[in-house]
Amino acid sequence: MRGSKLAPHVQGPIPSYVDDLVAAGVRYVKLMTLPDKDPWPGVRTVGRVYVEGDAGLVWDGARGADEFWRQIEPVVLSHPWVHAWEGPNEPNPVSDANYRGLLDQFTVHLARDIMLPRGLRIVGGNFSVGTPDVGHGPDFRNMLALITYLGLHEYNYPSLFAQGDAGKPWWVGRYRMLMDELRRAGCRVPPIIVGEHGIDRLLATPNNPQPSVGGWMTVNNNPAWFAGELMRADLEVYAAPEVEAVCIFTAAPYDPWGTYKLTEELARLLVPHIRANPPVDEPGPQDPKIVDLQGRLTVHPTLRYGSRKPRDIQFVVVHHSATPTSDTIPALLRIQRIADYHVNHNGWPGIGYHYIVDQAGIVYQVNHQDTVSNHTAGGNLHGLGVCLLGTYTKAPPSPVQTAAAARLIDWLGWRKVKDHHDWPGGTLCPGVAGDAVRAAISKL
Ligand SMILES: [Zn+2]
Repeated sequence: MRGSKLAPHVQGPIPSYVDDLVAAGVRYVKLMTLPDKDPWPGVRTVGRVYVEGDAGLVWDGARGADEFWRQIEPVVLSHPWVHAWEGPNEPNPVSDANYRGLLDQFTVHLARDIMLPRGLRIVGGNFSVGTPDVGHGPDFRNMLALITYLGLHEYNYPSLFAQGDAGKPWWVGRYRMLMDELRRAGCRVPPIIVGEHGIDRLLATPNNPQPSVGGWMTVNNNPAWFAGELMRADLEVYAAPEVEAVCIFTAAPYDPWGTYKLTEELARLLVPHIRANPPVDEPGPQDPKIVDLQGRLTVHPTLRYGSRKPRDIQFVVVHHSATPTSDTIPALLRIQRIADYHVNHNGWPGIGYHYIVDQAGIVYQVNHQDTVSNHTAGGNLHGLGVCLLGTYTKAPPSPVQTAAAARLIDWLGWRKVKDHHDWPGGTLCPGVAGDAVRAAISKL
């Protein structure tokens, strides 16, 4: 989404000034106490049903998801106007690898077997601030492929923009680190909902060696100051189109969150900002459906490719397979034959590309991005090989195949797209396919 992503988080009776925020144009509202009727048709309500001990149910994996559903089902089914429902809140300990695996299973079952078949949207993750740790994001690759939204909580102290330490350099805007990590690992990045956002003195940072409950009012009890922080973060930190909503915690009348409160005065200060930056839906790069063929193709009996650091990847190299464009055999069989040829004829450790796009626009991942496979002599260490099935020395690939390759490369986060024939060696590969793909990317 573009424009303001600010959204109220409401627990308990809905204060009248939330109506003013809705009238100003907010696109999302997060509600923990759900009225019988939709208070604002057209606004997307994110619902969270409080379930005692929900993070603990995760230890039971898929069976825990059945129990979680049993508890939320009556509320969910009696509020069909709610746009999306959150899974367990702040699941922990996500530092524990076993727990991460179980959370992935829990959420896959909840999404694939329970909620999505009922036409319900699910916000998965709902990770506590600062989690998951760097490097742990790809452990959730299965649930990431299914959930409608990825939920993250982002707090900071004593300012939304305070710097952390070397291990956790930033707290607010941390979603970008996670997004990059997921993309490098070839995981889907769902649209992001920051389900909780604010100043939190509970956060243990170098700035705050003695954490205790306390919100923005305990730092500076001037609503104009905190409104300024929220507006700046809204336009600067959360500008990425992947972010759908940033929910200000919380318009709640309850202790112990009184000093965190989204007050009437704060809301009044935010109204002109939201009016001036109206939220606009923007279809982001459509996520390609990727068929994972890693580990399922012919490899050399003894030779293995080397690996690289994600930062070594600097550009995409477009190839064509120089096989029939109007092929008489299915794409999957064609890919198997290419792997056989690369191994048995060329003597390579395995197939030479990272991704292959077939004539129907289906994307196959054939090597991990960190694998230094053979596709471009002189360009393998820094290049990510994307191959279009077919021969495009004369005519470009079809619009369907071109668009699929462009969406893939855009989704992978790359704009630097080279051709195999940019390197010496006399290859014609990939003909005019690279020009077609670059032109399509520039229009995304
Ligand atoms: Zn090539």
